[in-house]
Amino acid sequence: METNSRPHGLHWFRNDLRLDDNRALEALGSRVHAWLPIFIIDPLLAPADQNAPRLRFMFDCLEKLERDLAARSVALQILEGNPAELITTLMRETGATVVSWGNAATPLGRRRDEQVEVAISRAGGESIAVDDHVVFGPDEIKTQAGGDYTVYTPYRNAWWRHWNDQPRLAVRRVRLPRVALEKVSLPQNRPVPTRSDFKDGRRLPAGGARNAKTRLAAFLAGPARRYHLDRDRPDIDGTSRLSPYLRFGTLSSRRCFEDGLAAITADPSKKQGVSKWLDELIWREFYNAILVHHPHVLSRCQRPEYDALEWSENDDHFKAWCEGRTGYPFVDAGMRQLRSTGWMHNRLRMVVASFLTKDLGIDWRRGERFFFESLVDADPASNNGGWQWSASTGADAQPYFRIFNPVAQGRKWDPEGTYVRRWIPELRQLSAKSIHEPWKSQDASPLYAPPIVDHSAARLRTIEEFKRVRRMKR
Ligand code: FAD
Repeated sequence: METNSRPHGLHWFRNDLRLDDNRALEALGSRVHAWLPIFIIDPLLAPADQNAPRLRFMFDCLEKLERDLAARSVALQILEGNPAELITTLMRETGATVVSWGNAATPLGRRRDEQVEVAISRAGGESIAVDDHVVFGPDEIKTQAGGDYTVYTPYRNAWWRHWNDQPRLAVRRVRLPRVALEKVSLPQNRPVPTRSDFKDGRRLPAGGARNAKTRLAAFLAGPARRYHLDRDRPDIDGTSRLSPYLRFGTLSSRRCFEDGLAAITADPSKKQGVSKWLDELIWREFYNAILVHHPHVLSRCQRPEYDALEWSENDDHFKAWCEGRTGYPFVDAGMRQLRSTGWMHNRLRMVVASFLTKDLGIDWRRGERFFFESLVDADPASNNGGWQWSASTGADAQPYFRIFNPVAQGRKWDPEGTYVRRWIPELRQLSAKSIHEPWKSQDASPLYAPPIVDHSAARLRTIEEFKRVRRMKR
């Protein structure tokens, strides 16, 4: 029987803005009698762009989490400042001795957590830190020699073997601690920001756990069946669009696997589509592990020999790329989708990243930063992984000599030009045949400028540059 002699605890919400299937919260619930849930706006969250979509989405999720907690008569305390100081102060004020959270993947986040752990221990408390942003933590999937994987396919195979060996993986309802502690009045330098402080015209998806679950169910009931066929088509609504929810943890990735596998069992005709989708989710786990094991990837090429690549400093080209004015409709449509919605289809992410790094020869880090400030699902691990893959600087990347042709990509994945027409109104009048190469059409609008670079020449230049650097290695 539970007694009041059990300790008090704090749960520090971060990238796990949900009450359902939250392993760190579950661990706290089994240890403590009374609790206070907290969220800290710490210096690591500070964006270069105050209107970054990921932050607006995050505050929307926070608001919904606050509502879900209030429905259980629990108050969420949101604070701004240094986590180690705030947590130890809250421990003192509430008598809490146990603090739980889900682990971070970035080097700065992990260093911050180490400092918090030391501060908690000095204050006589105990930390519960759980890998819960992904199904399997970075140290759970190992090679036979005990090393970590740097190539996706063997990682994915090992991942599935591990899943099949782990019956403990079921999604669980979390039993929250019995008693809610009251919020503590603490001095703050300024009022804590809320969603309404983000003035941004972009149409972002609605956040929160309920919306995530509805979207997952709708995806598995509909587009998932054809995912393997439609996933590369930006003109078709064929993917789940769950990335922002997974990023902020309003949905656990475990639930995606569980519900996805259940959908296959209920209707085996979905097997090909859903299995492919689950394999894509494993890319997310893979990049998370890469970032933890190879933290240098955030600043340098994962393959060190490519640190010697020379990049163009052409700011006009970079600006044209950011604004969707490169003259290549498929690339520009992707960038305009990003600018107006904070989201971009995966095929386009690969194409625009290839264009920036290989057609314009601009450093992948500039694109990575721009994406991070523009994406609603901006995730350090997946974003970096996607950029290093596209730039061919990652360990398991697109080969440097395989360079996307932006016209051929458009023709292949947007054959009718529907996607381009949606985002580039200047090209609406063009036929499917000419829409991906408007400079060759007499009907082209003077409002849409011709390409800023010649793809064939840029391709040869990039291949030469990679060859130069590879020769240096020998
Ligand atoms: P679905 O196709 O429905 O896939 C389901 C989930 O699997 C996604 O929500 C995502 O969590 C995961 N996933 C799918 N593909 C990938 C992938 N290639 N890498 C990692 N995870 C994947 N994804 C992010 O979540 N945040 C980012 O900041 C991000 N930046 C990217 C940058 C570049 C240059 C590239 C090429 C890819 C990037 N991705 C990123 C991966 C991918 O584009 C998105 O996850 C995907 O488009 C999200 O749409 P969805 O939810 O409909 O995906």
